[in-house]
Amino acid sequence: MNQTANIVIIGGGVMGVSTAYHLAARGVKDIILVEKEEFFGTGATGRCAGGVRYQFATEVNIRLSLASLPMLERFEEEIGYPIDYRKCGYLFVLTNETDVAAFQRNVALQHSLGVETEWLEGDEIRRRLPLMRFDDALAGTFGPDDGLVDPNGVVMGYLKAAQRLGVRALSETEVTGFTVKGGRIQSVHTTQGEIAAPVVVNAAGPWAGVISEMAGVEVPITPLRRQWLTTTPLPEIPADFPFVIDFAQALYFHREGNGLLTGMSNPHEQPGFSQNVDPDWELTHMEAAIERMPLLERAGAASRVAGLYEVTPDAHPIFGATPLEGFYLVAGFSGHGFMHGPIAGQLMAEIILDGAAQTVDVSMLDLARFTEGRLIREYNVV
Ligand SMILES: Cc1cc2nc3c(=O)[nH]c(=O)nc-3n(C[C@H](O)[C@H](O)[C@H](O)COP(=O)(O)OP(=O)(O)OC[C@H]3O[C@@H](n4cnc5c(N)ncnc54)[C@H](O)[C@@H]3O)c2cc1C
Repeated sequence: MNQTANIVIIGGGVMGVSTAYHLAARGVKDIILVEKEEFFGTGATGRCAGGVRYQFATEVNIRLSLASLPMLERFEEEIGYPIDYRKCGYLFVLTNETDVAAFQRNVALQHSLGVETEWLEGDEIRRRLPLMRFDDALAGTFGPDDGLVDPNGVVMGYLKAAQRLGVRALSETEVTGFTVKGGRIQSVHTTQGEIAAPVVVNAAGPWAGVISEMAGVEVPITPLRRQWLTTTPLPEIPADFPFVIDFAQALYFHREGNGLLTGMSNPHEQPGFSQNVDPDWELTHMEAAIERMPLLERAGAASRVAGLYEVTPDAHPIFGATPLEGFYLVAGFSGHGFMHGPIAGQLMAEIILDGAAQTVDVSMLDLARFTEGRLIREYNVV
């Protein structure tokens, strides 16, 4: 069925639903959100570990958190959907001098922006984590306001709120191409027909590069598999167990239900779209995890998940216009976008309606930085 819209948003993950909601809340009519899967939020967002934090290594990421995390705190009240924000804190554990020096700089930057990250000595880490073996911990950082949020709740909340404001959300509608004329986007081709629209937002997460290519716009976003598992109940884990990250190994743990969620990034993973769990890497990961937390030897796996990071060359997202008039991007969050989804949608509404983001300056996160050599360096990503 052929249709028309003022704005088409591609991708029903956190970026797409948040952008749809914020545009509709600003009064835009005739928005269509398209998602290829049967359900919304089954891409990277539905597979993410749910972590939210202020602890970052660059000013723009810290500012995005300073704007986004309070939106998650107010979410139930404003959007009307529960998201179970648990402020368990993020505890980064550092085991080499290079990381210690880098995190000292990060904490100074965080403090200068008003983020109260605590610096911990090795003995303090061992005292706080009696169930873990961190004999080699030199130091660490703890962010008391960091924590966990339910990704499904955030997607459902924004989706339902957007629909109440008139957004048409179409699932099982895959984008297959575009009509472009005179350097302007004209319409979106989907498996359900064509949608004519002057404005299109590419919020396709790890698939955003593929979608952009269909429109003839080159966007450097690479899909990279990451995986985690949850364990059967472990009653020993205290209710206030933090989100622990063994930074040098990119190995993390947090409480999930009555058990634990743990993941480790494979540094040798090759780019690709497979979302199957890699059993060999799971073995390597669990050996490392048991070294750090011996009681895991007694736990079984309750669930396993693999998903895709959407990685850019500088591990920072891409916001805004492209050389193709009417074609916008909000993608490339490089493995920590869930927590920035609320503010990202608001900033996209500002970029499209006001010509520039007002709430947080993200002008340096434009697509042109990759061709103009203005990359931003981020260290604090696992
Ligand atoms: C294992 C893992 C753990 C993570 N942990 C965290 C974490 O703890 N904290 C955090 O903040 N972030 C985390 N992330 C990153 C976070 O999940 C992403 O940055 C974020 O969810 C990206 O949202 P998105 O809306 O851009 O992408 P997605 O959620 O992937 O949404 C894009 C959507 O586009 C749809 N789509 C694709 N192609 C088409 C097409 N042709 N037509 C129509 N629709 C299409 C897809 O089906 C998908 O639903 C994690 C990611 C992974 C994989």
